[in-house]
Amino acid sequence: MLREQRKFFQSGVTRQVAFRLAALAILQKAIKRWEAEIIRALKKDLGKSEFESYETEIGLIYEEIRFARRHLRGWTRIKRVKTPLVQFPSRSYIRKEPLGNVLIIAPWNYPFQLTVSPLIGAIAAGNTAVVKPSELSPATAEVIEKMIAETFEPHYIHVVLGGIRTTQSLLEQKFDHIFFTGSTRVGALIAQKAAQTLTPVTLELGGKSPCIVDETADIPLAARRIAWGKFLNAGQTCVAPDYIICQEKVQKTLTDALKKVIDEFWPGDATENEDYPKIINTQHFERLVRLMESGNILIGGKADESKRKISPTVLVDVSKDSSVMQEEIFGPILPVLTYRKLDEIPRIINNAPLSFYLFSTSKENEEYLLNNIPFGGGCVNDTIVHLSTPYLPFGGVGQSGTGSYHGKKSFDCFSHEKSILKKGNWLDIRLRYPPYARKLKMLKRFLH
Ligand code: NAD
Repeated sequence: MLREQRKFFQSGVTRQVAFRLAALAILQKAIKRWEAEIIRALKKDLGKSEFESYETEIGLIYEEIRFARRHLRGWTRIKRVKTPLVQFPSRSYIRKEPLGNVLIIAPWNYPFQLTVSPLIGAIAAGNTAVVKPSELSPATAEVIEKMIAETFEPHYIHVVLGGIRTTQSLLEQKFDHIFFTGSTRVGALIAQKAAQTLTPVTLELGGKSPCIVDETADIPLAARRIAWGKFLNAGQTCVAPDYIICQEKVQKTLTDALKKVIDEFWPGDATENEDYPKIINTQHFERLVRLMESGNILIGGKADESKRKISPTVLVDVSKDSSVMQEEIFGPILPVLTYRKLDEIPRIINNAPLSFYLFSTSKENEEYLLNNIPFGGGCVNDTIVHLSTPYLPFGGVGQSGTGSYHGKKSFDCFSHEKSILKKGNWLDIRLRYPPYARKLKMLKRFLH
């Protein structure tokens, strides 16, 4: 299959911008056709409501496709740049070239969006693609496989279903780029394997994204936006606020506001609510139940094993060394830690997280924290929404990943910038050629 993809790429068909635009349009139509199936699969895998599925999986993808179709001609245009005077007479320009045959490996938590979103970039940039959805969300993986098989020839885009062994054997093949979304642990394995063949990688990883609330914040509004971002997809979101660090004097006001808003979002028992998602599998469910022992449960704490649902839970009296603070939570458990002075915060956040959220109206606090904490991206006075705009590159830094995508960055991520300097033939300044005798002084004057 990969040999066929290579042959197809070498035929030059995917280089044509018209072909790429048509492929994006066909993909958009296919998703529209398969929408009901996708929603059904997301319900089966994660218990997602139709609203959440549309909001965070399907709607975002339509937006990305529309954006790419609207801008692709501009992105692919040759970009002229300046040339230093020493190279006179020349012109310089950059051509955006497809990378070739790419591999996309996706996780289970937004199994549709995180598989198809990088694919849009790969198509826009003129590549062929092998796509490996997560085996932990099998219903969605199957729908993606059927949809793509019906829509594209396998020598152009092909979906491979399977687990770790399948991914490992895919990694034995030579690709021109690997786009991986998943855990930091597996990301390191992928990078190691890719290094053996010098294959470039984009790593979209996770981590513990902190959320700071200071005394100047609009607390009821902060509680609403935090609860939404945290408990969306039952906390199984790479950019979910992992934990809160709030100023000690506002802790009570904040937790009271969280309680109020959680009751308002999921009245009664959230585990009974049809719209509230479930935990992906028993292993994760049990892991999360254990993490609830890391502090005192102030809100929620109900876990229903038969439904694999855990109610929105807020933990207080959590120490920095407890297990809930050692690993990415990836579930509906929200520990609330406190600080007294702002300079304690950078010491609590040790690894560059994927996201960072601050609720504050103090310009000074905002400046201090944005300056002193490394992180991939984030929001001031909101959570999560920085990833829903095609104008902001989305990606991590350090432990939370390498490279970024969304909007034009998705196109850039799967393109190579081929740099060309074109020399005029009507003049040939002899200075650079040997013999060098008596030329050094002149060279220095040019290059000082
Ligand atoms: P994971 O790393 O376990 O799996 C991701 C993919 O890698 C899957 O397709 C899986 O089949 C494959 N895989 C797993 N183990 C492998 C191995 N040993 N060798 C080769 N391939 C292997 O991640 P997950 O549990 O599916 O997803 C959760 C993680 O992903 C969290 O850490 C989360 O923060 C992160 N994530 C990041 C983003 C982002 O955009 N940065 C988005 C979603 C999730």
